[in-house]
Amino acid sequence: MSTPPEDQLLTRLRSFHSEYFPRHQQRFQDLVAQGQHPKTCFVGCSDSRLVPYLLTGAGPGELFIVRNVGAFIPPYDGSHGLHGTMAAIEFAVLTLEVERIVVCGHSHCGAIRAAYDGVPDEAKALKAWLKLAEEALLPVRSSAEALRRTEQRAVVLQLERLIAYPMVQRGVQAGRLSLHGWHYVIEDGEIHVFDAEKGDFLPASQASNPGTGPYRQYVEHDGQVLCD
Ligand SMILES: [Zn+2]
Repeated sequence: MSTPPEDQLLTRLRSFHSEYFPRHQQRFQDLVAQGQHPKTCFVGCSDSRLVPYLLTGAGPGELFIVRNVGAFIPPYDGSHGLHGTMAAIEFAVLTLEVERIVVCGHSHCGAIRAAYDGVPDEAKALKAWLKLAEEALLPVRSSAEALRRTEQRAVVLQLERLIAYPMVQRGVQAGRLSLHGWHYVIEDGEIHVFDAEKGDFLPASQASNPGTGPYRQYVEHDGQVLCD
């Protein structure tokens, strides 16, 4: 009787422990001893093709990651309900005191497509959740161009909701927190960052900053308006 093939997921778990971990052991142990102090909260779509660590070159301890379908931010309502994304943002800002919050959508987003095309009747939570993109939808058929524009509009919409969180607003006004809107184009391998001054998304290769939210503070210097 032949032994069944080892499950690939188990193989990878063993490989992490035996190959990756020994090479980075000290870093993990420091992160335990000193705790985590990530500077960036990354709110991204759950899509498997969006890989925040690859895109940002970050390693363990650097990103506090919140993921959900569509990278949506629910409106702040001070509710005591079970709002995972809201709780994570409160934790990131009030406890971890992150300096940046990135909201990252992406090309070919299934959430945005579903916001146009609908979801199975049984997916009631999903249907309700997708309403968080409703204001970003365009009154046209869901063409490739319309989907791309909607994905970007949805990112800006989430930034606008994010700034309504009291702890976020305080942080931005005090200049200790900045908001960044990103749209990742999977097929080009490039993030487009939202430039609030230009009101548009620019490829990171042509942008002068990693994206500014609509309420970022600017510092006057020698008559020029510069990012702080
Ligand atoms: Zn998506």
